[in-house]
Amino acid sequence: MKTEPKPKILRELEEIAGSNYILHDPDELLAYECDGLTHHRSLPDFVVFPETTHQVSRLVELARRYRMPFTARGSGTGLSGGATAARGGMIIETSRMKRILEVDAEARAAVVQPGVINMEISRRVADAGFFYAPDPSSQIACTIGGNIAENSGGPHCLKYGTTVNHVLALSVVLGDGEVMELGGAAADPPGYDLCGIFVGSEGTFGIATEIRLRLVRTSPATRTLLAAYAHVQQATETVSDIVAAGIVPVALEMMDQAIIKAVEDSHYRAGYPRDAGAVLLIELDGLDAGLKVREEQIRALCQANGCAEIRVARDPAERAALWAGRKGAFGACGRLSPNMYLSDTVVPRNRLPEVLSRVYEISKSHNIRVANVFHAGDGNLHPILLYDEKDPHETRRMLAACADIIEACLAVGGTLSGEHGIGLDKRDYMDRQFSEEDLRAMTKVKRAFDPEGLCNPDKVLPRRAGCGEAGRWDPKRLPEGAWV
Ligand SMILES: Cc1cc2nc3c(=O)[nH]c(=O)nc-3n(C[C@H](O)[C@H](O)[C@H](O)COP(=O)(O)OP(=O)(O)OC[C@H]3O[C@@H](n4cnc5c(N)ncnc54)[C@H](O)[C@@H]3O)c2cc1C
Repeated sequence: MKTEPKPKILRELEEIAGSNYILHDPDELLAYECDGLTHHRSLPDFVVFPETTHQVSRLVELARRYRMPFTARGSGTGLSGGATAARGGMIIETSRMKRILEVDAEARAAVVQPGVINMEISRRVADAGFFYAPDPSSQIACTIGGNIAENSGGPHCLKYGTTVNHVLALSVVLGDGEVMELGGAAADPPGYDLCGIFVGSEGTFGIATEIRLRLVRTSPATRTLLAAYAHVQQATETVSDIVAAGIVPVALEMMDQAIIKAVEDSHYRAGYPRDAGAVLLIELDGLDAGLKVREEQIRALCQANGCAEIRVARDPAERAALWAGRKGAFGACGRLSPNMYLSDTVVPRNRLPEVLSRVYEISKSHNIRVANVFHAGDGNLHPILLYDEKDPHETRRMLAACADIIEACLAVGGTLSGEHGIGLDKRDYMDRQFSEEDLRAMTKVKRAFDPEGLCNPDKVLPRRAGCGEAGRWDPKRLPEGAWV
């Protein structure tokens, strides 16, 4: 039987990354057609697994020669369609770049490759008395590269800040294959803060291939409180009161009745009171003596808002169980419906009670079930909308509910996204928050990093902001001799 000759582009990809590290069979590519946001789907033409910065740079140079779009991908847990190859082309997957290259306890820093899983860093440095602070609930699966792209947050970012506050320096491969060093070992290097602007650029400026991260000293003492309420409103009022009193817990998270039930019915069971309408998970850290005073203040605010029960974790195992429930909440909801859409918006914290009430009204008016678990201390709402994508009417109602939730948040001075990014999902809402001038300025910044627009195209900027919609990349329409 005559075998087809390999396309030249494939031979070149194999020459760079090795023939075992390329996928191009449509069946294998299926696993890469979307990220955690499953209603945006688009197959890449190739998935390549490089191991070094040099290989990434050569892959990007090749993409440029063939005018092929490319998209970096970590673990694909993103929730805004960021790692989806919107125009096809090449996915550059970082799972082989998973080494922790250096831990410098004296400088309180670690140097890692982008495919390192978030949780691995804290595990590695725990014995030396450190941890890596940004802790997305997906931290057992998501990569540092993905965290950098999305400027990820997590429960403990209320006190410690999000990813951008913990990245000291980056090696990045830009849209033309050039390798650039951003930031530096010392804090606040002079000149423009290019490291800061790269963090949160959603993979549209280039690919991070080496990252110097800040490590944080583990606190001498921690207190984890669970406060249970009959009504959601009482819990949200408590959050507003804690913030207004100037108390900054390490974490201040809220779960409503639907989440409590889902968690308690799942293997993440945490011992949350099943009959509660809402619970707050409140964590404090610092010196033991100081914690007592703050705990008393918080107890008083909880009680003033009609708290039914306050429990303090008695030991590390109980604390871990309380957090496992919170971090497993999204997974626990998987049993409630065939599909879920996890919304992500931010509102001023004093507007939380009214906006959350509005979220319940919206879900009721569209006849879509909703469960709420969120970073209450940051005002970062995460309504989980439950639906079945096989039912087109229900899917339409779910999308209409999402749109109304976004409008309700913007109406009180909120923002489009707290941590999941804009990606494909919200780019057409960008002009609801930003002016024409703002969007033009963002487009210019994107072009400075990626003049040819091949790096993760069609993300973040709305369709009409000038970055163009070139349609799908077609490997059959390559320069002479490229495909055969
Ligand atoms: C159950 C669950 C809970 C979650 N909880 C949180 C949470 O608490 N907080 C939070 O912020 N997010 C959360 N997320 C969202 C998601 O986990 C984060 O956005 C995470 O940072 C994505 O990492 P990833 O490795 O999966 O990236 P991917 O999904 O693979 O990619 C995300 C984006 O990063 C880009 N990218 C990936 N690697 C690189 C690189 N090396 N250089 C440049 N760009 C790159 C991609 O192009 C894409 O745009 C949650 C998701 C799930 C499923």
